Amino acid sequence: MSIKRRTFFKWGLTGAAIALVKPSEAKDILESSSKPLMKLAPRPIVISTWKHGLEANKAAWEVLSKGGKAIDAVEQAARVTESDITNRSVGIGGNPDRDGHVTLDACIMDENSKCGSVAFLEGIDHPISVARRVMDKTQHVMLVGEGAYQFAIEQGFGKIKTPLPEVKADWKKWKKENKDLFKKPEINHENHDTIGIIAMDVNGNLSGSCTTSGWAYKLHGRVGDSPIIGAGLFVDNEIGAACATGLGEAIMRVCGSHTVVELMRQGHSPQEACQLAVERIISKNKDMTGLQCGFIAIDKFGNHGGYSVFNGFNYALKNNEAEKMVDATFDRKW
Ligand code: ASP
Repeated sequence: MSIKRRTFFKWGLTGAAIALVKPSEAKDILESSSKPLMKLAPRPIVISTWKHGLEANKAAWEVLSKGGKAIDAVEQAARVTESDITNRSVGIGGNPDRDGHVTLDACIMDENSKCGSVAFLEGIDHPISVARRVMDKTQHVMLVGEGAYQFAIEQGFGKIKTPLPEVKADWKKWKKENKDLFKKPEINHENHDTIGIIAMDVNGNLSGSCTTSGWAYKLHGRVGDSPIIGAGLFVDNEIGAACATGLGEAIMRVCGSHTVVELMRQGHSPQEACQLAVERIISKNKDMTGLQCGFIAIDKFGNHGGYSVFNGFNYALKNNEAEKMVDATFDRKW
């Protein structure tokens, strides 16, 4: 049976009715329904892409378990990964671009659809918090490059010196061995590992964050999906939230995370919505060689799911019942 057909049967009229109400009201509808069709998952809940998500989730849980807000949880979680000097794809330990500059991208979005973003930001310790500050203190959504840097300095953020010496040594070696700028990207776990985090707090409100140093050895000036609201991250508190990892160029072309949320709006589960968004990417790319992309999502009932093009993608889950890695389902094997 197709996803569409299965979803229709699962949701039926109750699902359609619930799709129109606030998260706080969904529980009452589900409980009063003579035929409850959707399961209300335990909350709070936080999920984060890849294994570094386990540590990030712990910081999120500090906030969520005390009744704190999802937006604070996802910011604190992202800061953990940004501070990890062993992480080559996020924050201070990130790999540089082709010219040796570590340029960082991040965004954050809350339950009121407020959002903030920074891109092509160099030399600042916590891009995710700069993004939050853009959201909270300015009338803008996105600041990039030198302007984002100046804003961060004015706001009192710390400076960092990047790349770290060992990262610089690897980059120099890479540069010697790779003269062909436009050769096909080699996507693997070494050079694509953004952290995207989605949380639902005890009040049923959703928020998300996403932070990365992007594609290792990218062209100078390249910005991927991660700081783009709708591509790397999207939250609609009435429906659900989603974030992405993998080849940003492919994710941007289909507004990936927004697509996942819109598919949940149509009644698909988080798992199905992630799968359909990945299938959309596959349908737009004739050559999928090495093109890895993955999405994770939570719906307004606290159900979660993830799906990727290739095997190997996983995400960290934390709620009152579990703290573990979940293997995402996938379209094909490497
Ligand atoms: N999506 C990120 C980018 O394209 C990279 C990643 O997920 O690893 O910049």
